[in-house]
Amino acid sequence: MVVGLGISGRAIARFLTHRGERFMLADTRVSPPGIEAFRASFPDVEIHLGSLDALDLRTFDDIVVSPGVDLEASGLNRVRERVLGEIALFARHCRAPIVAITGSNAKSTVTTLVGEMARRAGKRVAVGGNLGDAALDLLIDQPDTELFVLELSSFQLETLEGLGAICAAFLNLSADHLDRHGDMAGYRQAKARVFEGAAHVVVNADDAATWPDDTSIPCERFTTRTPAGGAWGISDLEGDEWLCHGRKPLMPVSELRLAGRHNQANALAALAIGHVIGIPQALMRDVLDRFAGLPHRGEIVAERGGVRWINDSKGTNVGATLAAIAGLGETLTGQLIWIGGGVGKGADFTPLAAPLAQHAREAIVFGQDAPQLVAALQDRVATHRVDTLAQAVQRAASIAEAGDCVLLSPACASLDQFPNYMARGEAFRALLDQGQLEQGQEA
Ligand code: ADP
Repeated sequence: MVVGLGISGRAIARFLTHRGERFMLADTRVSPPGIEAFRASFPDVEIHLGSLDALDLRTFDDIVVSPGVDLEASGLNRVRERVLGEIALFARHCRAPIVAITGSNAKSTVTTLVGEMARRAGKRVAVGGNLGDAALDLLIDQPDTELFVLELSSFQLETLEGLGAICAAFLNLSADHLDRHGDMAGYRQAKARVFEGAAHVVVNADDAATWPDDTSIPCERFTTRTPAGGAWGISDLEGDEWLCHGRKPLMPVSELRLAGRHNQANALAALAIGHVIGIPQALMRDVLDRFAGLPHRGEIVAERGGVRWINDSKGTNVGATLAAIAGLGETLTGQLIWIGGGVGKGADFTPLAAPLAQHAREAIVFGQDAPQLVAALQDRVATHRVDTLAQAVQRAASIAEAGDCVLLSPACASLDQFPNYMARGEAFRALLDQGQLEQGQEA
């Protein structure tokens, strides 16, 4: 049985069909979106909609669940020994080595970098998982792949045992998705499954939550400080900062096109992973020289009147936005003007106050949870509340001074005012293109 009719559910169904295996599909929703399209693509597959209690779960050999399915709420926990996730199914059939990358934030950036590095080194590489194509689709569509580079979410890892990656990376851990994983310990435990059976691990020396319990696995560590004991880090060499492997300088930080300290951590993580899988350093440096980042993740969308406008709409939780504020703040000559707000998912916003007090000229907040942001920030930071992103952009333009950086990194989901974070980022870009900026900020 395949449970869950989303992108992964469809990929699982397609994979099983491709292999000629018999299966039925179930979804706990009575009318899940995409059901008609599914029926059209898989006319012979039996479908069950609504509570799984109506099924005798013990009659199935395997129950393959999509990452969106809550094992507890759906009752699947009762037959846990038969339950496997999409990635476990992938691992069962994958014959090529796997690089697996997880963390609360920065997964897509690091996964993309490692994929580019492997491609640059001439490997037939397939990149996907929680980003782009589903892992099972890659298995069908790119059968001659020599290396899989997979971004894995905590939901994908929750149902995975013994992945056996040649390199498993755990980038960072901060609060997110606690509604599903119960608490931080449960969330960390889900992510730490990435290490099972790994030949090598890459972890964040500055974040002990990413370190594996099993200390016998060979381990590379990255840090944004001066590296100790052969770690990957940043050293000051004759007045310039360099990315280094232990004492060995690799490239000046100024050559990176990615902005901010947090992205320097991402570059170092990618270098460490690339090193583990044998990619020559010169080729990795070539990739880092050119990579300007993924859209909506610290993306520079305008530079006018000495003011930089950065779209970090993918900063949808407090941890991500903290990294963006601290990361950019540290490398700025002027001040930050921060734009945030939306749906806070019940998060505690108070950790934003200290870095904003340090780096920001003003915090401009909008959207559903703006009142919570105002309450968390106003004692420490000049805070200005508006209703819409357009008003926020106008306000930012009216107060920005040369050397400043306007950062949209909302620490919130976008769903109160936009279909998704991408639409929010596009709206930000469009507002800038439409010349919404006050005179004086134009180039
Ligand atoms: P993910 O795939 O894990 O969501 P992304 O690469 O898409 O990660 O980045 C998402 C957001 O995470 C970025 O927009 C930025 O706000 C934040 N971020 C980027 N790098 C880091 C980092 N090293 N640590 C914490 N947060 C980061």
